[in-house]
Amino acid sequence: MQHNAQLTADNAAQPDAIFDGVDLRRLAERIPTPFHAYSANAIRARIAGLQQALQGMDAMLCYAVKANSNLAILQLMAEARVGADIVSSGELWRALHAGIPAQHIVFSGVGKTAAEIAEALAAGIQRFNLESADELDLLQQMAAELQVRAHAAVRINPDVDAQTHAKISTGKAQNKFGVSIDEARRWFADAARRPNVRLDGLHVHIGSQILGIEPFRLAFARVAAFWRELEAAGHTIASIDVGGGLGVRYRDGEQPIAPADYAAAIRAALGDFTGRLLLEPGRYLVAEAGVLLTRVIRLKHGEGRRFLVLDAAMNDLLRPSLYDAWHDIVPLIDDVRPRHRYDVVGPVCETGDTFAVERELPELHAGELVLIRGTGAYGASMASTYNSRPLAAEVLLDRGRHAIVRRRQSLEDMVAGEQPARHWETA
Ligand SMILES: *Cc1c(COP(=O)(O)O)cnc(C)c1O
Repeated sequence: MQHNAQLTADNAAQPDAIFDGVDLRRLAERIPTPFHAYSANAIRARIAGLQQALQGMDAMLCYAVKANSNLAILQLMAEARVGADIVSSGELWRALHAGIPAQHIVFSGVGKTAAEIAEALAAGIQRFNLESADELDLLQQMAAELQVRAHAAVRINPDVDAQTHAKISTGKAQNKFGVSIDEARRWFADAARRPNVRLDGLHVHIGSQILGIEPFRLAFARVAAFWRELEAAGHTIASIDVGGGLGVRYRDGEQPIAPADYAAAIRAALGDFTGRLLLEPGRYLVAEAGVLLTRVIRLKHGEGRRFLVLDAAMNDLLRPSLYDAWHDIVPLIDDVRPRHRYDVVGPVCETGDTFAVERELPELHAGELVLIRGTGAYGASMASTYNSRPLAAEVLLDRGRHAIVRRRQSLEDMVAGEQPARHWETA
């Protein structure tokens, strides 16, 4: 069954218009564009592939919720016994609502507030991935107040170059994430001063969309060496969290790391670790399972340029504007047409609202359907209503069936909470 799912989702020989058994052109007749569509089976296949590669190890996947935080996606994770890596109390709330047990949730991020820590403690999450001494002290104080003992890991900044886009690189010494091994050593040395924090974990996450295995090897080796040093010094390490970052194929020629190779790198560094391994994949599980369906609004001829104006925009998919990211753009047409170079843009009033520059595409006309590939991660979850464009619908596909998992925002939804300034008060 998983095998067929893989074919449906990943086989480039399949017509692009059929995704997880659903004819996207027929779907677009029923649901107004733009909308995001996700293949449940592509996600299931990714989870199963990673879980299989990790067989024999005490390893648990904690999906990085920020990649795609739709409740239906989180439910798929819960069904596959995948936990969650959260970075806010909003994500905690979503994960719990989707049925992910608190004991399968880890909490990362440099800016956890006192209120967020309190909520996570009350929920009983598995552990906190701590990124500063201040946060460690705050966790001690709050756990003491609640008379509980919190499990915590220290996020190591291994000073490794993930060789990815600067804005999604997190493991260099100059990045805001994690602490140096020197500092982490001090945390363990005076762990006794913090009786309500059980500091028994290590965590590392060096960045996102990583396509080479070498940065992972380096980071895992540094964590493994530190774990051995700590054990030798008499500290117990119950869990090592190797983070996320596995890259995906956004364009031809990109060669993502195979799950087996990734698992081999983990085994090579940490094969003799007998505690629990945690993994925090985000993008890898969902990116290629998503497409953005959009229609051509019009063609515009500029000074020596052809603009293809779509009804999707940077508010629906920010990655091209934010990271200069490439996404395949696939017209859903049957016939053969002359090809042109188009600047593919959205209607938002920003020059940055550009999906592609000088992209060679077949000639297109107003009203025709265009699919943007690889939008399942950091697509809808990064969306905004900029230019007062309501959030797009999200649709889950599963073997020929579809279900709306987020209805298109109404104008009333969009302005919910806004009101004229009627009641003035002084603080
Ligand atoms: C964003 C993030 C992830 C997920 O990264 P991907 O590249 O999407 O796999 C995992 N762990 C932490 C701490 C993160 O911030």
